[in-house]
Amino acid sequence: MSLTQVKHIVLVLSGKGGVGKSSVTTQLALSLSLAGHSVGVLDIDLTGPSIPRMFAIEDEKVTQTPGGWLPITVHNGDAAAGIGSLRVMSLGFLLPRRGDAVVWRGPKKTAMVRQFLTDVFWGETDYLLIDTPPGTSDEHISLVETLLKDTTPEQLAGAVVVTTPQAVATADVKKELNFCAKTGVRVLGVVENMSGFVCPNCSECTHIFMKGGGRVMADDFDVKFLGSVPIDPQFLMMIETGRRPRYPAGTLVNGEDMSAPAGAT
Ligand code: ADP
Repeated sequence: MSLTQVKHIVLVLSGKGGVGKSSVTTQLALSLSLAGHSVGVLDIDLTGPSIPRMFAIEDEKVTQTPGGWLPITVHNGDAAAGIGSLRVMSLGFLLPRRGDAVVWRGPKKTAMVRQFLTDVFWGETDYLLIDTPPGTSDEHISLVETLLKDTTPEQLAGAVVVTTPQAVATADVKKELNFCAKTGVRVLGVVENMSGFVCPNCSECTHIFMKGGGRVMADDFDVKFLGSVPIDPQFLMMIETGRRPRYPAGTLVNGEDMSAPAGAT
């Protein structure tokens, strides 16, 4: 079984599309890998698989082996420097052309989700992050049923729920929390994405929408608030072009000189 060597499985959920679920999954994967963990990313957002674009590996094709599909390896630096392996599987790799959409009925989608959980050769993996479609659909039910059946409670770490300051005011994100409660999936916490806008010139963060809703909602549901991520135009550019943006000379982020070429010390 393909998940037996996976230590921790984390679902990434959101009440609706466009709140940054795939972006948060990508950043979590990169951070865990940079911290030395081996990481897998499984994209089961079948109608809009955006994970391959986020990792700039859209044109890759996965191969079938006797042990299952081999996920695509992302080169995220030097393994000798203690950076963990990073592998990605997405329906996007199986589509004939970039950006093709799948128009499938529920049963075909649920069968695909099950196949993704059973037929991908992950090997030894510390964290498997699963990027799910928005909402609570047939794919979610199939995903959770298969995970509860095929993994141990220790393996199924839980779910990270992503929202935006505006979306917390809607019922969508609450539905995700209710879905977790009903299906018995632990909620690891809530991330508020697009929480304010950091001015690229003066670094001041302006809260365009309401502030702090994610924390209030997390408190209401008695789940952890994991943190907030501001709107970052440089991040958007990096995702859209697949390249690190050029920063003005002397730009420091967490003490790192962002104007230096990537990898420079
Ligand atoms: P979802 O998976 O919830 O549909 P995505 O992660 O695909 O959402 O994000 C939607 C769009 O918003 C993408 O173009 C992404 O690059 C952009 N985006 C997400 N989070 C941020 C952020 N914090 N700053 C800037 N752009 C962002």
